[in-house]
Amino acid sequence: GSFKNYHLSEDIVRALDHLHYAIPTEVQSKVIPVALKKKDLVVKSQTGSGKTASFGIPICEMIKWEENKPQALILTPTRELAAQVRDDITNIGRFKRIKATAIFGKQSFDRQKLQLKQKTHVVVGTPGRVLDHIEKGTLSLDRLTYFIIDEADEMLNMGFIDQVEAIIQQLPTNRITMLFSATLPEDVEALSHKYMKDLIEIEI
Ligand code: AMP
Repeated sequence: GSFKNYHLSEDIVRALDHLHYAIPTEVQSKVIPVALKKKDLVVKSQTGSGKTASFGIPICEMIKWEENKPQALILTPTRELAAQVRDDITNIGRFKRIKATAIFGKQSFDRQKLQLKQKTHVVVGTPGRVLDHIEKGTLSLDRLTYFIIDEADEMLNMGFIDQVEAIIQQLPTNRITMLFSATLPEDVEALSHKYMKDLIEIEI
């Protein structure tokens, strides 16, 4: 396989060259073409498989640079993963000048509030702090089109189900949802089926 098969824009192809991503990993070759068709997805895949770029590449490709409000929201179970995903999105979107912002606990709310006032295409965060910003009106969701739950099994193991559901209730219903998880226990399956329509399941 090759990234050329996906007909990505020049800005994204250049970024992948810079990252030395020459050949799509298995999860990327299965997810990218489907995600580019704007389908709801449940993906069973381990960390280290290249899963971040499997959603990062299609999201960066589909984002409209001109829009000032957030178009993608990515939930992660930990601060470390949020920062990592923000960095990966920034790298993939570099030549398209895509702005990704991470919001998580144990960091100044007001500083994040200022960051969210700037142009931001992608917001990556942990459920508690994301919900906090939604409730205080500092995270605008009216242009939200892509919603990703990363490491869903970890998220539910850590007890974030209520926050995740409270966030989902606030999202536009006309959105694309992708859920990634290393395992698919019953609670993850239940969450998927509750909030996704016509979902496609991909197992790596
Ligand atoms: P992830 O599973 O998203 O944490 O990615 C694991 C590692 O693989 C990261 O260091 C990525 O930078 C790297 N990676 C992702 N996709 C590719 C690719 N197509 N070719 C080479 N390395 C990659």
